[in-house]
Amino acid sequence: MYRTHTCGQLRIENAGETVTLAGWVQKCRKLGGMTFIDLRDRYGITQLVVNASEGELMQTAASLGREFVIQATGKVIERSSKNPKMPTGDIEIEVTALKVLNKAQTPPFTIEDVSDGGEELRAKYRYLDLRRNPLRKALELRHKIAHEIRNYLDAKSFLEIETPYLIKSTPEGARDFVVPSRMNPGQFYALPQSPQTFKQLLMVAGYDRYFQIVRCFRDEDLRADRQPEFTQIDCEMSFVEQEDVLNTFEGMMRTLFKNVLDVTIPNPIPRMSWYDAMDFYGSDKPDIRFDMKLHEITSLVQGHGFSVFDSVEYVGAIAVKGAAEYTRKQLDELTEWVKRPQVGAKGLVYIKLNADGSIKSSVDKFYTPEQLAKVAETAGAEKGDLVLVLCGPKRKTQTMLGVLRIEMGNRLGLRDPLNFAPLWVVDFPLLEWDDETNRFYAMHHPFTAPKPEHLDLFYSNRKEDLEKVCANAYDFVLNGTELGGGSIRIHEADVQERMFEVLGISKEDADYKFGFIINAFKFGAPPHGGLAFGFDRVCALFGGQETIRDYIAFPKNNQGRDVMIDSPSYIDQEQMDELCLNSTAPKQE
Ligand code: ASP
Repeated sequence: MYRTHTCGQLRIENAGETVTLAGWVQKCRKLGGMTFIDLRDRYGITQLVVNASEGELMQTAASLGREFVIQATGKVIERSSKNPKMPTGDIEIEVTALKVLNKAQTPPFTIEDVSDGGEELRAKYRYLDLRRNPLRKALELRHKIAHEIRNYLDAKSFLEIETPYLIKSTPEGARDFVVPSRMNPGQFYALPQSPQTFKQLLMVAGYDRYFQIVRCFRDEDLRADRQPEFTQIDCEMSFVEQEDVLNTFEGMMRTLFKNVLDVTIPNPIPRMSWYDAMDFYGSDKPDIRFDMKLHEITSLVQGHGFSVFDSVEYVGAIAVKGAAEYTRKQLDELTEWVKRPQVGAKGLVYIKLNADGSIKSSVDKFYTPEQLAKVAETAGAEKGDLVLVLCGPKRKTQTMLGVLRIEMGNRLGLRDPLNFAPLWVVDFPLLEWDDETNRFYAMHHPFTAPKPEHLDLFYSNRKEDLEKVCANAYDFVLNGTELGGGSIRIHEADVQERMFEVLGISKEDADYKFGFIINAFKFGAPPHGGLAFGFDRVCALFGGQETIRDYIAFPKNNQGRDVMIDSPSYIDQEQMDELCLNSTAPKQE
């Protein structure tokens, strides 16, 4: 037996017992004839004391370095100087036998809660980084959440069923990762962007409640917090309407919050239509922890000779509480900020409602104080507030105002990560027109059904009609982050065919790519719907963090590389030949 206890287990009640511990040397200190060793494992740290100034025991103790793996046997004794900060801080082990199980090179960074290692270095030695408490806690949280999800869904008769990874393209809107097939020369599998089509086929097969905590693969340019492979809590149900799906998963989220964080979230979770989300928050994932809504002021400001406003579709404003004190310099800086490509505004107009009742604005020349006061009032401003105004095409400007709103929320400290404000965004448009390619795209994915009452519009050939079609599609939003989304699906072959037609996918192409599912719908497909949550993101938000990387044991970096195993990497010519691949990419060493 390597150990009788873990390094986090022993307490004063164990005093007098002879125990054996195994673990890693966190640190070693010599004090006179005594050596103190902090021994660490996943469960905690226990202090060992070697009380010998000569002999084999002392020599072994003297040979130890950081991260050596050792086994120590000795008696649990009460410490003379206790450490109340450590759960094991009342005791220490008076060592009688010490064995080095394995030596270790000096680690390239300190294995402490706050390490001295840079991100790149820690990624390269991820297995050492994972020894640190913050990462261990993140993975423990992940495990706990997964466990709670399984318990909840199992109790609700969901079956956990695995679906294949080597499949054909799934249309979630990103690029596919592909895998060449040696046995079928020149042909490729695609890795699933999600198990979407398979879970729907399971519904056709009669498995009316399915879930899977499953890896998904999307070859996207990796913006800040994305991973090429990530995990979804993927779910589907048959014989349901939107209400059934929302209730089931609202229950799941409520249970997770309660059991994992002991947090009670609102019951019911508020709902907002996609249109309201865009009009009032400039985002399809509003952060409702703070107000600062968007207000349209177009009709108030047009026709007063200010050509910038007169020539646009939409003028909108937000009122920032208590920010009338912003200096000229701060306003200039904010104007530069909104002009950055990430925001994309052409300029920023402000109105200050000073505490003394006076009004100061960057468009004083064009408007009377009364007119400006009216605008400020419409924007919901009071004395001491700052009104910020952007203008341009409606949705684009709303989106920019939404980004500005979040920025001002950050600056005002209104976005406490431990204040949880969940929200369902519902009633999404089914389709999204793209001017560049001159065609419709599915806002969610092509298996989302039009609302039954919009079927007539859906079969219309007019763009204006199709733009009005809504779907029973929904997103679960938490603190301004989309945590999940889903929809009621199409379950009739003819409607599915119409969908592909609306999306400009030819019949041949639809048959080639999705013939299997259209076919399946001809064999008695039940009405069904579902959703998927981003599991990594759920974990990160529950941990009060914005980045998912710490919640994944072995993540990739921003270039999609695993720097620890140094992948992706070149394969040798023989393997390329076998897979019928010809590389034109230059090989770089
Ligand atoms: N497959 C969808 C996604 O990955 C989720 C769903 O509709 O269930 O976004």
